[in-house]
Amino acid sequence: MSKDTMLKFYIIGLSLLSLTAFFLAINSSSDIREVRQQLTEKTRQLEEKEKIIKELQAKIEEKNKKIEKLAKENIVLAKKLKQIEEKIKKANKTLRRKGIKIKLPQGGIYISPETGENILAFANTMDKSIEKLLKTMADVPIGVPLYGKITSRFGYRKDPFTRKRAFHTGLDLKARYKQPVFATANGVVEYAGWMKGYGKIVIIRHKYGFKTYYGHLSKIRVKKGQYVKVGSVIGYAGNTGRSTGTHLHYEIRRYGALINPLRLMYLNRTNSF
Ligand SMILES: [Zn+2]
Repeated sequence: MSKDTMLKFYIIGLSLLSLTAFFLAINSSSDIREVRQQLTEKTRQLEEKEKIIKELQAKIEEKNKKIEKLAKENIVLAKKLKQIEEKIKKANKTLRRKGIKIKLPQGGIYISPETGENILAFANTMDKSIEKLLKTMADVPIGVPLYGKITSRFGYRKDPFTRKRAFHTGLDLKARYKQPVFATANGVVEYAGWMKGYGKIVIIRHKYGFKTYYGHLSKIRVKKGQYVKVGSVIGYAGNTGRSTGTHLHYEIRRYGALINPLRLMYLNRTNSF
């Protein structure tokens, strides 16, 4: 082998070696890049998960705060409901002083002062009590039958006709001619027609032994046996019967006995006038 040939082989060999090394280098660097890419991807995913966890934790904290706030509000609510219960009892007492005894629903429910537990059940009982009070108020002649000035009260007075001392069985309210007259409670019309002294009169029978009389009417709008609702118009004011001017004579009886209408006209007053 000549020197030249040897040199050629040497050069070829060297070239092959460097080529192999080059390819190896290329290959390994692409592997690393891939691994690096995968690592970056994994890190990104982890970071994303961490972010989600943090968000969830913040949400949980917020919810916990809300629960705490609700618990506090529950306690305040429980106290408020107790106050409402006291007011209902007071209203019931007022009615009792006016001679109307009703039994209010009582659950005997205990509200925990720490957690406000049973609050809904308690509120439901209060709701039933208020409903019963409202129903009773609609059944008992409370309020005014006509918007007008009181011109003559219940009790002894000088009779406008004879000028002698005489007992006035009801209350007189000054009225405009044909001014509407309202039923002061739910009830059934017991009488609707003419009655000596009273002129055109409507008598309504209510619960708890009450009867209301609406006298001197100009027109009657109800019939005997008819059920009337509180606040409905039963007739119109007039001057019929023993009357000296357009007015309504309003009378209340209970179990046959006359009572002062003023006792029932105003809920905030407990004594008779
Ligand atoms: Zn009168």
